[in-house]
Amino acid sequence: MSKIKIMDEILANKIAAGEVVEKCVSIVKELVENSIDAQSTIIKIELKESGIGEIKVTDNGIGMDYDDALLAFSRHATSKLINEEDLFRINSLGFRGEALPSIASVSLVSLKTSTGNVGTHIIIKGGKIISNEKSEARKGTEISVKKLFYNTPARLKHLNSLYTELANIIDFVNKISLSYPDISFYLSNDGKEILNTDGRGNLLKVINNIYGINITKKMIEIKNNDDEYEIYGYISMPEVTKSTRNSIVTIVNGRVVKNQEINKIINESYHTYKPDDRYPIVILKITVDTSLTDVNIHPTKQDIKFGKIEELKELISSTIKKALDEKMLIPKIENNVSEIPLYNKIKPVKEENTFLNVNLNENQDLNIIEKKENEEIKLDLDYIKEETESYQKNIVEPENKVPVMYPVGLVKGTYIICQNEDGMFLIDQHAANERINYEYYYNELTNGSEEIEMLIPMNIELPYNEYLIVKQNIEILRGMKFNIEEFGINSFIIRSHPIWLPNGNEGVAIKKIIELIVTKEKDFDKNKFNDRVAMTVSCKASIKANDNISIDEMETLVNRLRKCKNPYTCPHGRPTIIFYSNYELEKLFKRSM
Ligand code: ZN
Ligand code: ZN
Repeated sequence: MSKIKIMDEILANKIAAGEVVEKCVSIVKELVENSIDAQSTIIKIELKESGIGEIKVTDNGIGMDYDDALLAFSRHATSKLINEEDLFRINSLGFRGEALPSIASVSLVSLKTSTGNVGTHIIIKGGKIISNEKSEARKGTEISVKKLFYNTPARLKHLNSLYTELANIIDFVNKISLSYPDISFYLSNDGKEILNTDGRGNLLKVINNIYGINITKKMIEIKNNDDEYEIYGYISMPEVTKSTRNSIVTIVNGRVVKNQEINKIINESYHTYKPDDRYPIVILKITVDTSLTDVNIHPTKQDIKFGKIEELKELISSTIKKALDEKMLIPKIENNVSEIPLYNKIKPVKEENTFLNVNLNENQDLNIIEKKENEEIKLDLDYIKEETESYQKNIVEPENKVPVMYPVGLVKGTYIICQNEDGMFLIDQHAANERINYEYYYNELTNGSEEIEMLIPMNIELPYNEYLIVKQNIEILRGMKFNIEEFGINSFIIRSHPIWLPNGNEGVAIKKIIELIVTKEKDFDKNKFNDRVAMTVSCKASIKANDNISIDEMETLVNRLRKCKNPYTCPHGRPTIIFYSNYELEKLFKRSM
């Protein structure tokens, strides 16, 4: 190649770099994906200053020989081999094939690689090879990227704060280790270990590495299939939620994808089990014949299109609902329940336990380094499983979802204290009553209700625009068993109403229902409408906080709650019951340590 041509190429790479290398995470992504392609079973990612100082990825993969190592940095050569697999990556990462040369054009790259015979060590600065020699023959690849954007300082300003760059990388490495539980991933920043998975193929163990034991104990395994799709994974109990969708991870045929429809159906499957604007932790693996998927939607969004999406949604939704339905979901108070924030997890490296301090320069194969004893790991997992299962107790009879318990008093006119042989329960009387009413109303609304005549017909006057909307939708109200007619200017008269309307609160309930009709969405969905009506009216009809009810009333309330389909949360997803076990009470009072 002539000098001019090479210059052209470097320039082209630099221009491309502006488009493809925007964040440190895109470099990490590219290097880690390369390591996975090279069949590595151990991948180690070491960062300095969140990757801005250095990104170093070391693997035990098949490595490259001298010629391939040089080719890897040539723009034309890398667009070789495009099969369907690669195509998926091009789409999911957006720039595969041109990334390495682009990265090298704006940084200082050192590549040590070997197929197990002779090793190669290449140093490239600003896209130009500055050194090129033989090196040690340890099988695998070590690639380090430093001085990022040293020759295009304007781009340096486009990088995010150290915190954001690191958070993006952690998020990527977490998700890739969930996709590949049989690869051991190690991630550190400035020498501090962030993630270290064992690569033994156990998904629950990876979840434990990422989220910690307290959350892992609250994960429910799910597994199901239909003719087209196979799903497997873990979903969090409703008490564990996050403020963003980011902990819903969907992995299709081994690759992380983002799909709005799937995220939405997962969240909807938890409806009334948790607030709709909080999101569960879900790791969902979907296996499907590739002929049913189309990855060619958006070059960088990692989106995927499914054939037979309705079937898939139904499969996911029914599986999650069934899993929630079968578990005991009363939140248990534990002394040490606290979510570990991401950055508290960044702990100093333990010298003896990681393979970080193993000297890689001694022709050592990473494969032979056993990190923990087999037994030790198995014990760990058994413990998690046992704890999880004993707590979640499978429920057979729906009546047994909430154990028998006896009210002993009321705190602040709001929380009912109950006890049984297992411990103490606190029940929020409003939330519990709301749940009971909600299920009753929803049932009446769906299955049809009796109608009852009003002693005094009710006259409702509305602003003209609302009057028109109600007039257009009057059949909805009649379907609900309202006897309603137009009556004078901008007015309706109601002579009878469905029997379930709360006694004494009919007027308020009717106004709420009319409000829901006025604000209803264009594509009217009867089930969603019934859900909203039941939710709104049940709130209005339930005993409030600061309402001192008698022990008898408490008993009735608890017994009716026990008969609910989902007794654990109010329709808005807030808890109705909290449990303090005898053990936990004793621990709190230091009677048992
Ligand atoms: Zn309420
Ligand atoms: Zn509520």
